[in-house]
Amino acid sequence: MPELPEVEIWARRLGTVLKGAEVESALAPGVVTMKTYDPPISALAGHTIEGTRRFAKMLCVDFSDDLSLLVHLMHGGRVRVFDKRASLRDKAARILIRLSDGRELRLVEFGTQQRAWGKLLPADEVVNDEMVATLGPEALPPPPVEQLADLVRLPRHMHSLLRDQRVIAGIGRSWVDEILWESMLSPFKRGADLDDDGVQRLHDAIGSTLQGALDHYEEVIPPDVVPDKPPMPLKVHNKQGEACPRCGTKLEAVFFRDYVTTYCPEDQTGGQILKDRRLSKLLK
Ligand SMILES: [Zn+2]
Repeated sequence: MPELPEVEIWARRLGTVLKGAEVESALAPGVVTMKTYDPPISALAGHTIEGTRRFAKMLCVDFSDDLSLLVHLMHGGRVRVFDKRASLRDKAARILIRLSDGRELRLVEFGTQQRAWGKLLPADEVVNDEMVATLGPEALPPPPVEQLADLVRLPRHMHSLLRDQRVIAGIGRSWVDEILWESMLSPFKRGADLDDDGVQRLHDAIGSTLQGALDHYEEVIPPDVVPDKPPMPLKVHNKQGEACPRCGTKLEAVFFRDYVTTYCPEDQTGGQILKDRRLSKLLK
């Protein structure tokens, strides 16, 4: 699932390439995609794209006359800009916004599930939408150390805490591994057990990891290109079996049904190799 740095670079690049474009027509062939019905997506016709915003892992496209399309890509959703229009038989198309200049902004979704969604809202109501209003503070820049301490000192494990968008917004399954590895914290350490030094390391790692990813994207993705898939500069996530880039120890992993958490036993768990079943239980 795209996380804060990926959605941020999409928002920036989409803003650059789409600003000022006029909508010719808009439709949502994915029947469950639109979560709002009034105004309908077709009401975007004639409006101009004014810019883009990001809320946690959600993308927001702002149109003239105070209309905003809030989009959650979920796991398999991607936003793309095409020079030609999609066939309506494109099974992956969820939202099609046809522009007067011939281009098309398309929300596509891969996989069999239809989970990506959009909401067409008055611009000033986006912040009141339940998915936005319930977000914790944005992870970038990270909240001040004292605030972060208050947020994470809960009797829950770091791996689930950091991915809880109501605790801190923008981190998911990939970047959580990188942040915990950077801060040398175990994925199953309880937030409540973090000492001041641990909170400081976590704070610094959230900032450096997410900003580092964003800086990488700014460097490798041309300013006028909307990437299909930003090249994630991951060091440990999903690299189990490889050597830890810091100490050379073999990276270990705990496998869940549809994802994996990777860690360095030397740096993060005091040499302990986590038993899959035990950690799975703990992290649920
Ligand atoms: Zn290591």
